[in-house]
Amino acid sequence: MSSAETSNHEVVIIGAGVCGIYMLHRMLDLGVDVTVIEAGDGPGGTWYWNRYPGARFDSESYTYGYSFNKEILKEWSWSEHFAGQPETLRYLNYVTDKLDLRKHMQFGIRVDAAQFDEATNLWNVSLSDGRTLTTRILVTAIGMLSAATMPRIKGVEAFKGQSFHTYYWPQQPVDLAGKRIAVIGTGATGVQVIADIADKAGDLHVFQRRPNWCAPLNNGPIDDAAQAEIKASFDAIFEQCSKTPGSFLHGPDRRNLNEVPREERLAFWEKLYASRGFGVWLGNYRDVLVDPDANAEYSAFIADKIRSRVKDPAVAEKLIPKDHGFGTRRVPLETRYYEAYNRPNVHLVDVNDSPIECITSTGVRTTQKEYDFDLIIYATGFDAITGAFDRIDFTGRNGAKLADKWRDGPITYLGLQTAGFPNLFTLAGPQGASVSSNFPPGIEASVNWATDLIRYLRENNIARVEPSIEAEEQWIEEIKASYDGMLLTQTKSWFTGYNSNVDGHDKLRYMIYLGGAPKYRERLTRIAQTGYPGFELSGSTSKRRAR
Ligand code: NAP
Repeated sequence: MSSAETSNHEVVIIGAGVCGIYMLHRMLDLGVDVTVIEAGDGPGGTWYWNRYPGARFDSESYTYGYSFNKEILKEWSWSEHFAGQPETLRYLNYVTDKLDLRKHMQFGIRVDAAQFDEATNLWNVSLSDGRTLTTRILVTAIGMLSAATMPRIKGVEAFKGQSFHTYYWPQQPVDLAGKRIAVIGTGATGVQVIADIADKAGDLHVFQRRPNWCAPLNNGPIDDAAQAEIKASFDAIFEQCSKTPGSFLHGPDRRNLNEVPREERLAFWEKLYASRGFGVWLGNYRDVLVDPDANAEYSAFIADKIRSRVKDPAVAEKLIPKDHGFGTRRVPLETRYYEAYNRPNVHLVDVNDSPIECITSTGVRTTQKEYDFDLIIYATGFDAITGAFDRIDFTGRNGAKLADKWRDGPITYLGLQTAGFPNLFTLAGPQGASVSSNFPPGIEASVNWATDLIRYLRENNIARVEPSIEAEEQWIEEIKASYDGMLLTQTKSWFTGYNSNVDGHDKLRYMIYLGGAPKYRERLTRIAQTGYPGFELSGSTSKRRAR
C-alpha cells in the first residue's frame, strides 16, 4: 500500500494483546469493518514483549484465560497453576487462530498519532509505515504496563556489554551461564528474573532501591485429575472471581483482625502463606489494607518469614521494606526469591547506602565501588497506565491534546472515554476497574460494555459519543472516594502514579478505580440499560455508514 493511500474502517483497535484480541472478536461478531494495529510481530501484547526468564502469571492460569468461549475453555489445558510466559504467548496465538483473527491484525506497525476530524466525525490515524487510516471508532488496547522506563542514571548508553530493559528481552536466547550480571530494580519483574537466573549467572549483583513485600507463589504442575476438575468447574471458578473486588479467586475475609484470637489468626496467616497465589494479599482480614495497626501486625508476620528464609540477618533486614506496609504496593509473588540471596554468587547492593553514580562502559559505578559486568538487566518498570497514551499524539476536538488534558493526571468517565475526544474508547486505560483487577475478567467487562455501546450507535445512526464534563467530574469524585482510607494511596508505586524516571510523576495521581470490580460492573450495566446517561450522543451517520 502506498503511503498516500487511505484505508477506511469503522473501528480501529490499537494493540493485539489480551484486550485487543477480545475486542476484535466482538467487533467481527458485530459485523463491523475493523482492523488491529500492533507494534509487535505477533499477538500477545505484554506476553509478546516480556520474555525475560521467570516471567509468569501470578493469577491462577485458569482465571487468566478468557471466560467467554466454552470451546476454548475445553480445548486449552494449562500445564501449571501459574503458567510461564511462553505458554501464555502460545495460548494467545491459539485463541487468535481459533477465532480466525490474525487476518485482521497488522503487525510491526505503531500508531504515531490520531486526530479527530470534526467535519467528518472520523479519526485520522497516522501509522509508523507512513499510512493514514480513517475510522469512526478508535479503541486503545495499548496495555497499562507497555511504556517501559529506563532509569535516569548517567551513562546508560556508554555500556559496551549487553543490556536491555526486561520488557525488551531479546527473542534470541541470551547466554547467562557464568556471566557477570547486574539487575537494577526489585519490583514484580526484578523479583521473578532474579529468582530465575540466580543459579545460572556466574555472579549476580542486585541493585535495590526500595525492597518490596514478596510472598510465595506456591506454583505447581496441574496433573490430570486437577485438570479434569478445573475443566468441570469453570462456571464455579468464574462465578467466584465475579464476586471478589479484584476478580481473583481470592477475596477478603470479612472479619477484622481483632475479631479473631491471636492464635487463630497466626494459623490463618500460615495457611495463607502456604497457599497458591494472591490469597496472602487479597484473602486476608479486611482491615489489613486499611488499618495501620492491623497492617503493621501482618507486616511483622511476613517480615519474620523473610528473616527465616534469608540466612544472613543483615541481608534479610535489607530485604524487608521499612517505608510501607505489606500489600500497599503490588505484592510480587515469588519462587525461591529470598533463597537466591543465600547463594554465594548473589550479592545485594543497597543503592541507598551506595548510590549509583553512573553506568560506565564496563559496568556500574557506585559511590563506593566500581563493578564490571557482562550484562545489565534493567527491571526498572513502566510509565504505567498513561505512559502508552502519552506516546501517541492524540488530538481531539478543537485541537485539544490528550497529553495536555492528562498532564497532571488522567481525567475520564468510567475509565472508558474522555471528554473532547469523541468515539475514543480507552479500554484498559486509567480509572477503570480492569487496571485494579485480574486483567482478563476486567477487560471482558469493558469490552462487552463498549461493544454494546457501539451496537447502540450503529442501530441509531449516531455519529459521536463522548462523556460530558460533569460526568467526568463526578467520576473523579467517585475515584477519590474509592481511595479513602486505603493504605496503598499513601505509598509510592505505579498504582498511585509515581515513577522517578518520568517528569512530573512525583505526586499522587488518580490512576485506578478502587471501588471493586462487582460495583464497577453494576455501574456499567446500569448506564447501558438507562440510555447512557453522562454521555453526549450526537450527529448522524445515516448517509455514510460503512456497511
Ligand atoms: P516496578 O514495580 O515499577 O519496579 C521497578 C523497580 O525498579 C523498582 O524496584 C524501582 O525502585 C526500581 N527503579 C526504578 N528506577 C530506578 C532507578 N533510577 N534506580 C534504581 N532503581 C530503580 O516495575 P515492574 O517490576 O516491572 O512491575 C510493574 C508491574 O508489572 C507489577 O507491579 C505487576 O503489576 C506487573 N507484573 C506482573 C507480573 C505477573 O503477572 N506475574 C510480573 C511482573 C510484573 P523503587 O521501588 O524504589 O521505585
